[in-house]
Amino acid sequence: MHQMPALFIGHGSPMNIMLKNDFTAALSDLREQLPRPEAIMVVSAHWQTRGTHLTYDKHPRTIHDFYGFPEALYAFDYPCPGAPDMAEQVRESVTGIDIQLSLDWGLDHAAWLIFKHMYPEADIPVFEMSLDILGTPEYHYALGKKLISLRDRGLLIIGSGNIVHNLRLADFEHMNADPYDWALKFDETVQKCLLEHNHQLLIDYNHIDNHSMAVPTNDHYLPMLYALALQDDNENVALIYEGMQNASVSMRSFIIR
Ligand code: ZN
Repeated sequence: MHQMPALFIGHGSPMNIMLKNDFTAALSDLREQLPRPEAIMVVSAHWQTRGTHLTYDKHPRTIHDFYGFPEALYAFDYPCPGAPDMAEQVRESVTGIDIQLSLDWGLDHAAWLIFKHMYPEADIPVFEMSLDILGTPEYHYALGKKLISLRDRGLLIIGSGNIVHNLRLADFEHMNADPYDWALKFDETVQKCLLEHNHQLLIDYNHIDNHSMAVPTNDHYLPMLYALALQDDNENVALIYEGMQNASVSMRSFIIR
Protein backbone atom coordinates (compact mmCIF):
# COMPACT_ATOMS: atom_id res chain seq x y z
CA MET A 1 0.00 0.00 0.00
CA HIS A 2 1.19 3.54 -0.80
CA GLN A 3 1.83 6.03 1.94
CA MET A 4 -0.85 8.65 1.42
CA PRO A 5 0.11 12.32 1.18
CA ALA A 6 -1.53 14.78 3.57
CA LEU A 7 -3.49 17.83 2.43
CA PHE A 8 -4.62 21.18 3.65
CA ILE A 9 -7.44 22.70 1.62
CA GLY A 10 -8.70 26.27 2.03
CA HIS A 11 -12.40 25.67 1.26
CA GLY A 12 -13.79 29.23 1.31
CA SER A 13 -17.37 30.13 0.50
CA PRO A 14 -20.04 27.46 -0.08
CA MET A 15 -20.50 29.13 -3.49
CA ASN A 16 -17.45 27.12 -4.56
CA ILE A 17 -19.70 24.04 -4.51
CA MET A 18 -21.59 25.22 -7.58
CA LEU A 19 -19.00 27.44 -9.28
CA LYS A 20 -16.27 26.56 -11.73
CA ASN A 21 -13.20 28.72 -11.10
CA ASP A 22 -9.41 28.39 -10.80
CA PHE A 23 -9.75 27.00 -7.31
CA THR A 24 -12.30 24.31 -8.19
CA ALA A 25 -10.22 23.39 -11.28
CA ALA A 26 -7.22 22.85 -8.98
CA LEU A 27 -9.33 20.50 -6.86
CA SER A 28 -10.48 18.57 -9.94
CA ASP A 29 -6.87 18.18 -11.10
CA LEU A 30 -5.71 17.02 -7.70
CA ARG A 31 -7.13 13.50 -7.90
CA GLU A 32 -4.74 12.63 -10.76
CA GLN A 33 -1.80 13.45 -8.49
CA LEU A 34 -2.83 11.12 -5.68
CA PRO A 35 -3.00 7.36 -5.15
CA ARG A 36 -6.59 6.28 -4.69
CA PRO A 37 -7.32 6.43 -0.93
CA GLU A 38 -8.93 3.58 1.01
CA ALA A 39 -10.77 6.26 2.95
CA ILE A 40 -10.57 9.99 3.64
CA MET A 41 -10.69 11.77 7.00
CA VAL A 42 -11.44 15.49 7.00
CA VAL A 43 -10.50 17.57 10.04
CA SER A 44 -13.30 20.09 9.72
CA ALA A 45 -13.35 23.77 10.67
CA HIS A 46 -17.13 23.42 10.82
CA TRP A 47 -17.43 20.70 13.46
CA GLN A 48 -16.51 21.99 16.89
CA THR A 49 -17.00 19.80 19.95
CA ARG A 50 -15.79 19.31 23.50
CA GLY A 51 -13.21 16.59 23.11
CA THR A 52 -12.32 15.09 19.74
CA HIS A 53 -15.04 13.20 17.86
CA LEU A 54 -15.16 11.10 14.69
CA THR A 55 -18.22 10.52 12.52
CA TYR A 56 -19.18 6.86 12.62
CA ASP A 57 -22.07 6.49 10.16
CA LYS A 58 -22.08 3.92 7.38
CA HIS A 59 -23.93 6.52 5.28
CA PRO A 60 -23.10 10.05 6.46
CA ARG A 61 -25.75 12.65 5.75
CA THR A 62 -24.89 15.80 3.81
CA ILE A 63 -25.16 18.80 6.11
CA HIS A 64 -26.06 22.14 4.51
CA ASP A 65 -24.46 24.20 7.27
CA PHE A 66 -24.75 27.61 5.59
CA TYR A 67 -27.45 30.27 5.45
CA GLY A 68 -28.60 32.86 2.95
CA PHE A 69 -27.12 31.21 -0.13
CA PRO A 70 -28.92 30.52 -3.46
CA GLU A 71 -31.68 27.90 -3.17
CA ALA A 72 -29.93 25.65 -5.72
CA LEU A 73 -27.06 25.09 -3.31
CA TYR A 74 -29.34 23.32 -0.84
CA ALA A 75 -30.35 20.76 -3.47
CA PHE A 76 -26.78 19.46 -3.78
CA ASP A 77 -26.01 16.27 -1.96
CA TYR A 78 -22.91 14.09 -1.53
CA PRO A 79 -24.01 10.48 -1.02
CA CYS A 80 -20.65 8.83 -0.30
CA PRO A 81 -20.20 5.90 2.09
CA GLY A 82 -18.79 6.45 5.57
CA ALA A 83 -15.80 4.57 7.01
CA PRO A 84 -16.68 3.33 10.52
CA ASP A 85 -13.92 0.66 10.39
CA MET A 86 -11.28 3.28 9.64
CA ALA A 87 -12.72 5.59 12.31
CA GLU A 88 -12.22 2.76 14.82
CA GLN A 89 -8.63 2.34 13.63
CA VAL A 90 -8.01 6.06 14.17
CA ARG A 91 -9.52 5.87 17.65
CA GLU A 92 -7.36 2.87 18.55
CA SER A 93 -4.10 4.24 17.19
CA VAL A 94 -4.31 7.54 19.08
CA THR A 95 -2.91 6.96 22.56
CA GLY A 96 -3.49 9.30 25.47
CA ILE A 97 -6.57 11.00 24.02
CA ASP A 98 -10.05 9.54 24.37
CA ILE A 99 -11.66 10.03 20.97
CA GLN A 100 -15.46 9.68 20.76
CA LEU A 101 -17.26 7.93 17.90
CA SER A 102 -20.33 9.97 16.99
CA LEU A 103 -23.58 9.53 15.08
CA ASP A 104 -24.54 13.17 15.72
CA TRP A 105 -22.88 14.72 12.69
CA GLY A 106 -22.46 14.03 8.99
CA LEU A 107 -20.44 15.75 6.28
CA ASP A 108 -20.43 19.54 6.50
CA HIS A 109 -19.33 21.74 3.62
CA ALA A 110 -15.70 21.76 4.78
CA ALA A 111 -15.71 18.18 3.47
CA TRP A 112 -18.19 17.86 0.64
CA LEU A 113 -17.34 21.20 -1.03
CA ILE A 114 -13.94 19.66 -1.76
CA PHE A 115 -15.19 16.26 -2.90
CA LYS A 116 -17.83 17.65 -5.24
CA HIS A 117 -14.86 18.63 -7.43
CA MET A 118 -12.25 16.08 -6.44
CA TYR A 119 -14.30 12.88 -6.32
CA PRO A 120 -17.68 13.70 -7.91
CA GLU A 121 -18.60 9.99 -8.12
CA ALA A 122 -18.84 9.94 -4.30
CA ASP A 123 -17.42 6.39 -4.21
CA ILE A 124 -14.63 6.83 -1.64
CA PRO A 125 -15.56 6.41 2.05
CA VAL A 126 -15.34 9.67 4.01
CA PHE A 127 -15.53 10.54 7.68
CA GLU A 128 -14.83 13.65 9.72
CA MET A 129 -12.76 14.51 12.78
CA SER A 130 -14.03 17.40 14.91
CA LEU A 131 -12.05 20.24 16.45
CA ASP A 132 -11.87 20.15 20.22
CA ILE A 133 -12.82 23.72 21.13
CA LEU A 134 -10.92 23.43 24.41
CA GLY A 135 -7.66 22.42 22.71
CA THR A 136 -4.68 24.75 22.35
CA PRO A 137 -2.82 24.95 19.02
CA GLU A 138 -0.16 22.72 20.63
CA TYR A 139 -2.82 20.14 21.43
CA HIS A 140 -4.08 20.07 17.84
CA TYR A 141 -0.56 19.75 16.44
CA ALA A 142 0.27 16.95 18.90
CA LEU A 143 -2.91 15.08 17.97
CA GLY A 144 -1.97 15.41 14.30
CA LYS A 145 1.39 13.75 15.07
CA LYS A 146 -0.42 10.74 16.52
CA LEU A 147 -2.13 10.18 13.15
CA ILE A 148 1.03 9.68 11.09
CA SER A 149 0.92 5.86 10.97
CA LEU A 150 -2.56 5.95 9.43
CA ARG A 151 -1.10 7.36 6.23
CA ASP A 152 0.41 3.89 5.67
CA ARG A 153 -3.04 2.30 5.83
CA GLY A 154 -4.37 4.19 2.84
CA LEU A 155 -6.01 6.97 4.82
CA LEU A 156 -5.94 10.38 3.18
CA ILE A 157 -6.07 13.03 5.91
CA ILE A 158 -7.25 16.50 4.91
CA GLY A 159 -7.30 19.57 7.12
CA SER A 160 -10.08 21.79 5.77
CA GLY A 161 -10.27 25.43 6.82
CA ASN A 162 -8.71 28.71 5.65
CA ILE A 163 -5.36 30.25 6.65
CA VAL A 164 -6.86 33.77 6.55
CA HIS A 165 -10.56 33.85 7.41
CA ASN A 166 -12.17 37.12 8.47
CA LEU A 167 -15.87 36.98 7.60
CA ARG A 168 -16.69 40.26 9.35
CA LEU A 169 -14.64 42.12 6.73
CA ALA A 170 -15.41 39.80 3.79
CA ASP A 171 -16.86 41.18 0.56
CA PHE A 172 -19.61 38.60 0.03
CA GLU A 173 -20.81 40.29 -3.17
CA HIS A 174 -17.48 39.96 -4.94
CA MET A 175 -15.52 36.74 -4.77
CA ASN A 176 -12.68 38.39 -6.73
CA ALA A 177 -12.57 41.60 -4.70
CA ASP A 178 -9.09 43.07 -4.10
CA PRO A 179 -7.61 41.38 -1.03
CA TYR A 180 -6.73 43.38 2.07
CA ASP A 181 -3.08 44.15 2.52
CA TRP A 182 -2.98 42.57 6.00
CA ALA A 183 -4.53 39.39 4.58
CA LEU A 184 -1.87 39.11 1.88
CA LYS A 185 0.92 39.78 4.36
CA PHE A 186 -0.22 37.16 6.85
CA ASP A 187 -0.75 34.62 4.07
CA GLU A 188 2.75 35.30 2.70
CA THR A 189 4.35 34.80 6.10
CA VAL A 190 2.56 31.48 6.46
CA GLN A 191 3.76 30.40 3.03
CA LYS A 192 7.34 31.29 4.00
CA CYS A 193 7.04 29.20 7.17
CA LEU A 194 5.62 26.29 5.18
CA LEU A 195 8.60 26.32 2.81
CA GLU A 196 11.06 26.58 5.71
CA HIS A 197 9.36 23.81 7.74
CA ASN A 198 8.94 26.40 10.51
CA HIS A 199 6.11 24.64 12.30
CA GLN A 200 6.78 26.36 15.61
CA LEU A 201 5.90 29.83 14.35
CA LEU A 202 2.75 28.43 12.72
CA ILE A 203 1.73 26.91 16.06
CA ASP A 204 2.56 30.25 17.71
CA TYR A 205 0.70 32.14 14.96
CA ASN A 206 -0.23 34.89 17.41
CA HIS A 207 3.39 36.02 17.07
CA ILE A 208 2.87 36.69 13.34
CA ASP A 209 2.03 40.28 12.31
CA ASN A 210 -1.64 40.89 11.43
CA HIS A 211 -2.78 37.68 13.15
CA SER A 212 -5.68 39.40 14.94
CA MET A 213 -7.17 40.47 11.58
CA ALA A 214 -6.28 37.28 9.68
CA VAL A 215 -7.29 34.81 12.40
CA PRO A 216 -9.97 36.56 14.51
CA THR A 217 -11.14 33.09 15.59
CA ASN A 218 -8.93 30.07 15.00
CA ASP A 219 -11.51 27.45 13.90
CA HIS A 220 -10.45 27.74 10.23
CA TYR A 221 -6.73 28.01 11.01
CA LEU A 222 -6.38 24.96 13.29
CA PRO A 223 -7.09 22.28 10.64
CA MET A 224 -3.85 23.37 8.96
CA LEU A 225 -1.88 22.30 12.04
CA TYR A 226 -3.06 18.71 11.51
CA ALA A 227 -1.67 18.68 7.97
CA LEU A 228 1.62 20.20 9.18
CA ALA A 229 1.95 17.66 11.96
CA LEU A 230 1.81 14.86 9.39
CA GLN A 231 4.90 16.16 7.62
CA ASP A 232 7.96 13.92 7.86
CA ASP A 233 11.41 15.56 7.93
CA ASN A 234 12.14 14.35 4.39
CA GLU A 235 8.84 15.60 2.95
CA ASN A 236 8.04 18.90 1.29
CA VAL A 237 5.07 21.19 0.95
CA ALA A 238 3.84 21.76 -2.60
CA LEU A 239 1.28 24.33 -3.56
CA ILE A 240 -2.13 23.22 -4.80
CA TYR A 241 -3.66 26.68 -5.02
CA GLU A 242 -3.03 30.21 -3.78
CA GLY A 243 -5.28 33.25 -3.96
CA MET A 244 -7.84 35.22 -2.00
CA GLN A 245 -11.60 35.13 -2.26
CA ASN A 246 -14.03 37.72 -0.91
CA ALA A 247 -11.05 40.00 0.02
CA SER A 248 -10.36 38.32 3.36
CA VAL A 249 -10.33 34.54 2.80
CA SER A 250 -7.09 32.84 1.78
CA MET A 251 -7.65 29.84 -0.47
CA ARG A 252 -4.05 28.66 -0.07
CA SER A 253 -4.05 24.87 -0.26
CA PHE A 254 -1.09 22.51 -0.17
CA ILE A 255 0.02 18.91 -0.30
CA ILE A 256 2.62 17.24 1.89
CA ARG A 257 4.52 14.26 0.51
ZN1 ZN B 1 -15.60 27.32 6.32
